Amino acid sequence: MTISATRPSTSSVHRAWPAAAATLTIDHSALAHNLALVRRVSGVDVMAVVKADGFGLGAVQVARTMAAAGASSLGVTSIDEALALRRAGLTLPILAWLAHPGADLAGAIRSRIELSAATIEMVLAVSAAADKLGVTAGVHLEADTGLKRGGASATDWPELCRVAARLERAGSIRVVGVWSHLARAAHPHWSAVEGQVEDFQLAVGEAFATGLRPTRIHLANSGAALAHPRARFTESRSGAALFGIEPVEGREFGVRPVVRVGARILHVREVHAGDAVGYNAGWVAPGATRLGLVPIGYADGVPRTLSGTGWLSVRGRPCRIVGAISMDQLLVDLGDLDAQPGDEAVFLGDPAMGEPSLAEVAARAGTIPQEILTNLGNRFERIHRGAQNVA
Ligand SMILES: *Cc1c(COP(=O)(O)O)cnc(C)c1O
Repeated sequence: MTISATRPSTSSVHRAWPAAAATLTIDHSALAHNLALVRRVSGVDVMAVVKADGFGLGAVQVARTMAAAGASSLGVTSIDEALALRRAGLTLPILAWLAHPGADLAGAIRSRIELSAATIEMVLAVSAAADKLGVTAGVHLEADTGLKRGGASATDWPELCRVAARLERAGSIRVVGVWSHLARAAHPHWSAVEGQVEDFQLAVGEAFATGLRPTRIHLANSGAALAHPRARFTESRSGAALFGIEPVEGREFGVRPVVRVGARILHVREVHAGDAVGYNAGWVAPGATRLGLVPIGYADGVPRTLSGTGWLSVRGRPCRIVGAISMDQLLVDLGDLDAQPGDEAVFLGDPAMGEPSLAEVAARAGTIPQEILTNLGNRFERIHRGAQNVA
């Protein structure tokens, strides 16, 4: 039997479909712009914070762009995150600020990862690991100045400094930095951070009084770097602003959006007045309309709380999410818009293009932009536009 050479007609296929239906595009020129903005406005060095896989966007790629754009160091939470950056060839100083005494301190020290210590136990553990290797470990001592999260209390701080100074004289550690973290840096008024700045100045003074000579003094995150001059010291630890989040309530510094998330509409269907739509009839059509099926859901990081309240942009028009957002898909109400399968629906993008902004999506979902970014799943095709190829 021969196979017919006649192929099915392709005339009904109106466009070429991309291989990936859902994409997450990271604009590296916006990342570089935002780093330059924080540097210029603050006038001090920037430690680019690339924790949690670079706020979910790819720590290595983001870190390369930050290095090329003038970051003076990198900041992460864990030793594993720091080692991944070293393995990728990044040579900037890297601080890991939430390692614990049982972590791979030797591995970190061997890779010239700087470690934070907020307790005597931790500073002793770092010192012991460095001693074994016969090297000097770089340490940043953390003081609590009001956040009451990490950091030595004002009571414990002088003794921590004295122990660190003794170990420094013995050669196993070098206290390169002293730092603390702000509780209310998003607040536009100085009074929100003033008390912490003053307590931090006292803590730095006490460190110097024990003989320590840290050259890196850091308190500010992005919000304080941009809005609170007296919180800047020698450098900021900036994350949010780099990733396109305006960090200070009610103020705009010109941070550029970094992320665009979109997916192709896979299917368009007509529904009639009274039709129940989605799981548990989460929405009943008030009149005849057309619905577009978009293949992203809560497992991809679209918060389920956006069911009925969020929107995606299709052909430049806002289309409301209707029915319950599913694990892998959602429906938008296209109304009388002449949208077709293959059209892109934009979940996150540039408000200047009529697309939902990260800030709006977060506000509608009842959360903060950071949580939206870090929840974006791994099923998107990630497109790094304008990324650096070298460390
Ligand atoms: C996340 C984090 C930062 C970055 O703060 P942004 O507000 O994102 O700029 C700085 N320091 C520490 C300790 C952090 O955990």
